[in-house]
Amino acid sequence: MATLIMWACFAIDLDHLLATPMFDPTRCSINFHPLHSYYAIAVYAALSFWKPSRILGIGLLIHILADSVDCLMM
Ligand SMILES: [Zn+2]
Repeated sequence: MATLIMWACFAIDLDHLLATPMFDPTRCSINFHPLHSYYAIAVYAALSFWKPSRILGIGLLIHILADSVDCLMM
């Protein structure tokens, strides 16, 4: 289970690595990366409601939340 979560977090981080430039402190990653779109967020929310994938969904939502905080700090 923990491995699955680790892979999910790795996959969502690939989104950041695929972007050019790789790191831009002035960019908001929400809705910029495909895995950070509102559609993706809706999927993560659905995952966190469904018991078998709840931890996975919550893990992904925490990532989105952390990225959102970054946007608000700008
Ligand atoms: Zn992110």
